[in-house]
Amino acid sequence: MKKESFHIYLGLGTNQGDKEKNLKRAIELLSLALGKYTLLSSFIETEPWGFESQNSFLNCVVTFTTTLTPFELLEKTEKIERELGRVTKSQNGTYHDRIIDIDILFYGEKIIQTKRLTIPHPLIQERDFVLNPLFEIAPQLIHPIVGKTIAELKEEVNKKQL
Ligand code: AMP
Repeated sequence: MKKESFHIYLGLGTNQGDKEKNLKRAIELLSLALGKYTLLSSFIETEPWGFESQNSFLNCVVTFTTTLTPFELLEKTEKIERELGRVTKSQNGTYHDRIIDIDILFYGEKIIQTKRLTIPHPLIQERDFVLNPLFEIAPQLIHPIVGKTIAELKEEVNKKQL
């Protein structure tokens, strides 16, 4: 039987070393693992979120089509994080400088709430560094839990920041 394929959205971020190179290398490794990406946002510079650091972030969102399950996908993205030299993970909501962070933002319209994996990524609707690049490539995408488009969520975040 042919496996079902899903459209997935990945959020990438880096705030160490040659950030543009880190994002490009991550996209290259993801494309080797998943096949060529379908959409890619621009690289957007943002301030650290959730912790103090001198180093600003470079963020982007990239989409793929995959037949991997969400947990197989998480294994691949974590392997790529390690290949790129990331050694520490966030613990208890504490964030650090990082060479690369790969978040699974959406996996089709699936909703997954386990200890190891939460999809859609729980902080999408609060983080403009995710919403801005997402807005570039998928403004009409509907968040399957919140039931609002990315454009609407972005407007709400912008209003809160005024
Ligand atoms: P971080 O250090 O911020 O990259 O957090 C990584 C941990 O978050 C991983 O070990 C995952 O088990 C967990 N996690 C939960 N939901 C997601 C998601 N949607 N995408 C990526 N990691 C996730």
